Amino acid sequence: MAVLDAFDLTGRKALVTGGNRGLGLAFARGLAEAGASVAIAARDAALNEASAALLRSEGHTVHVVTGDVVTDAERIVAGAEEALGGLDVLVNNAGIAIHRPSFEVSDEEWRTVVDLNLTSLWKTSVAAARHMKDHGGGSIVNIGSISSIIVNRPQWQASYNASKAGVHQLTKSLAAEWAPHGIRVNAVAPGYVKTDMAPVDRPEFRARWIEDSVQQRYALPEEIAPTVVYVASDAAAFMTGSVVVIDGGYTVY
Ligand code: NDP
Repeated sequence: MAVLDAFDLTGRKALVTGGNRGLGLAFARGLAEAGASVAIAARDAALNEASAALLRSEGHTVHVVTGDVVTDAERIVAGAEEALGGLDVLVNNAGIAIHRPSFEVSDEEWRTVVDLNLTSLWKTSVAAARHMKDHGGGSIVNIGSISSIIVNRPQWQASYNASKAGVHQLTKSLAAEWAPHGIRVNAVAPGYVKTDMAPVDRPEFRARWIEDSVQQRYALPEEIAPTVVYVASDAAAFMTGSVVVIDGGYTVY
């Protein structure tokens, strides 16, 4: 096989949670450009339809499953399987960060972060793997973060950091358990990326978020998408249980 053919996702069926904006939209576009049929899942029905229409206008096959992955994980995975006619790739991307000092974090805020970033990812993974194990395997790509490796500054976000560390260890645990079923489970851990979640242009964050990094800049979502395509594809056939850090060198220091 020629080397670039290993990255080809033609005929593959992929679900991207949080696929209507930010990193998730870039991942959906990247997977589609590599040949996959894609389903995007998120709560905002209008934005889901608008983003799907945008991707379709670029020539891609895109389905929408509207819902909340915290309360509706199984239905979302089943809906994607039905719309796509199967499921080979799951990108667990939906996530949230709350910046607040620990003494001020309410139980509800803690739960909101952990329920979405960690527990819903567990639920979609199990639901998808139940299907994949009976259909020749698959690839699960969890979106972790450098926040599982370093502690971000100047904002405090303990719930987010802990949830992403959980994502990385869950990735390894499920990789070990599901390898016999032909299911690979890996994580991609980005540094700062310009999205609604990360206000990278705000001056109060510049010193720590930008100047502290080796490349002295943030990324755009489309710079992370090729790594997700790679991990999802047969080019990464020997990769499972790995955390791929892509952070402009942030974690070097
Ligand atoms: P955004 O805030 O831009 O987008 C979040 C996405 O998740 C939206 O599509 C949103 O859609 C969806 N979402 C949120 N809550 C739910 C829910 N309960 N059910 C279903 N979908 C939901 O975030 P980013 O694109 O920045 O982040 C994407 C992932 O990348 C996250 O896991 C994040 O932690 C991670 N990451 C981001 C970094 C960054 O610097 N931006 C760095 C490292 C990791 P909707 O509101 O319509 O539901």
